[in-house]
Amino acid sequence: MDKNNIKKQNLYVSEEEKTLNWGEVKDSFKKTFGNEIYTSWLQKISLIKEYNDYLILGVPTRFFRDWIVSRYLDKILEQVKSFKLSLNRIEFKIIEDSKNSSDLTKIDELNKVTEIKDSILNYNRLNPSLNFDNFIKGKSNDIALSYSKKVCEHISRYNPLYICGGVGLGKTHLLNAIGLQLQSENNVMFISAERFMYHFIKSIKKNDMVNFKDFFRKSSVFIIDDIQFIRGKESLQEEFFHTFNSLMDKGSQIIISADRTPMKLDRVQERIKSRLAGGLVVDIDSPDLELKVNIIKKKILEIESQFKENINLSEEVISYIASESKTNIRELIGILNRVIAFSRVHNKVLTISDCKNILKDVFSQIKVVTVDKIQNVVSNFFNIPLSDMLSQRRSRPLARPRQIAMFLAKKMTSRSLPEIGRRFANRDHTTVIHAVKTIVRLSEQDDEMKKNISQIRSLLLEQ
Ligand code: ADP
Ligand code: MG
Repeated sequence: MDKNNIKKQNLYVSEEEKTLNWGEVKDSFKKTFGNEIYTSWLQKISLIKEYNDYLILGVPTRFFRDWIVSRYLDKILEQVKSFKLSLNRIEFKIIEDSKNSSDLTKIDELNKVTEIKDSILNYNRLNPSLNFDNFIKGKSNDIALSYSKKVCEHISRYNPLYICGGVGLGKTHLLNAIGLQLQSENNVMFISAERFMYHFIKSIKKNDMVNFKDFFRKSSVFIIDDIQFIRGKESLQEEFFHTFNSLMDKGSQIIISADRTPMKLDRVQERIKSRLAGGLVVDIDSPDLELKVNIIKKKILEIESQFKENINLSEEVISYIASESKTNIRELIGILNRVIAFSRVHNKVLTISDCKNILKDVFSQIKVVTVDKIQNVVSNFFNIPLSDMLSQRRSRPLARPRQIAMFLAKKMTSRSLPEIGRRFANRDHTTVIHAVKTIVRLSEQDDEMKKNISQIRSLLLEQ
């Protein structure tokens, strides 16, 4: 057997080793996402190939893929992980239907269907399960929650309302809850900045800007999620600015979320930042222990009533899970699901030590490692200023750490080579390839290098 074959064998999962029962996984999608989302989007996903740590899933069109990736990917991954812990990535492949490709009329029909589904209206769906009733109040979100409710009582009193905070802390949940509350009496538009961009580009291509402008400007409540996404996109910012102004002029309520405060949005026009900051800015902080415990308890109740089963987690175990989950609420819920899945499979009341074992695996897998974090940890580790590490200087004491950081960025994040290059002071992707190769080679030859990399890796996973 040659070298390539050995490699392949490690990557592929052979027929006997396949562990996923795709039918079962899809059943669980139905339960988690509800029938409507399931039949419109998820039912059509097929399993193409299973690897140890990732899956290739098939979808019918590019549009389908974009939609699923932007709305459901996190949850889908969370869900499949509960069947197979070692999975940490999902890729989509567009499968052309060969039956149709020879039949032109059918293709035409198909295209029409896609066009209709692709209409803006389809993006304006609010998720009924993200409401005020199941949003748990805590010290970290108290202010954001109470102003979100106030906005619902007095439209355009706090305008715009700008909610900021890190990932997984509940921004989308709050925005969605506001939309639900207001939708019966208002024309509510709820869209992520990313989708806004998508429609913007599509309308330009189709020469249909008039409809685009009209559509957004007729809303009386305009909710836009993750506005940081407009950074660097000048023409989109221009359009957003005009939409924003015309909505404000006619007294529509605008609600915005972002991962940072308005003034900290980089590569966003100053006039937009000051418009965004001109109403009320509230932030959501990381949850404290009490909030985490309350969220876990609420989630347990939800799962119990949804699946008509009894979930037996002791107070001790609950507070253990809460204290161990350090980053955000999305992660907390992911961990809880994992623990519950384990107790189901083993049909037992879990002890702290069971939980420790489960979490050990979970934490090493779902820790989110970002390029920023890698750069910080690496420069600290080698005790050099970050700015020197990113600079153009080529002396070895700077170049090696820089290469190590690029190598880890490639290995530990899902960023592409060009993206990584850009994050390292706009270097070319070939520089990144060279760095990765160099470090792979050095760590095979040099024990010191190997040790350093493994230490940095564990620092990254600990934090
Ligand atoms: P963000 O948009 O800030 O990244 P999300 O709104 O998507 O975060 O929240 C992540 C997950 O955590 C969602 O499942 C959400 O329902 C849940 N969540 C966040 N905050 C709360 C809360 N206070 N009470 C209940 N669930 C919450
Ligand atoms: Mg969000």
